[in-house]
Amino acid sequence: MSLADDCIFCKILRNEVPSLKVYEDDQTYAFMDINPANPGHVLVIPKYHAPNIFEIPPEWLSACMVTVQKIALAVEKTVSPDGINILQANGEGAAQSVFHLHIHVMPRANGDDLKMNWGHNPGDMEAIAALAEEIKAELA
Ligand code: 5GP
Ligand code: ZN
Repeated sequence: MSLADDCIFCKILRNEVPSLKVYEDDQTYAFMDINPANPGHVLVIPKYHAPNIFEIPPEWLSACMVTVQKIALAVEKTVSPDGINILQANGEGAAQSVFHLHIHVMPRANGDDLKMNWGHNPGDMEAIAALAEEIKAELA
């Protein structure tokens, strides 16, 4: 693992900050977003600190995408959304707010009118934790 001292996602990877993990393997870690755009919003990160798609080594990006597919399948089964967006932001102009590459697995509902800059509204942690358990069960 190649991590950074002051990065919130590296702190999550070092267990210095709590997170609701749904999956991990040697190269990747998936956890519930605490400000979900919709229920079942999961983030996939590499266990390697790189700020964006420009700087992540290809093998780490590939590992992330394999995990993204696993998570999308589990979220699909758990939440049965009308759709799922896979989203990854690079730079402030793209509304990136955490500078450790991450990929959003974002359930969608017909008519949710979600914008690309969807804003960060704290979720109900009990509801998020309950969904984390269901998604984990799908991945087991
Ligand atoms: P970005 O805006 O950079 O594409 O996405 C960053 C995401 O990280 C946001 O959806 C935000 O809610 C999430 N996030 C920021 N800090 C934390 C945290 O400490 N824990 C978790 N679980 N998610 C976080
Ligand atoms: Zn980091």
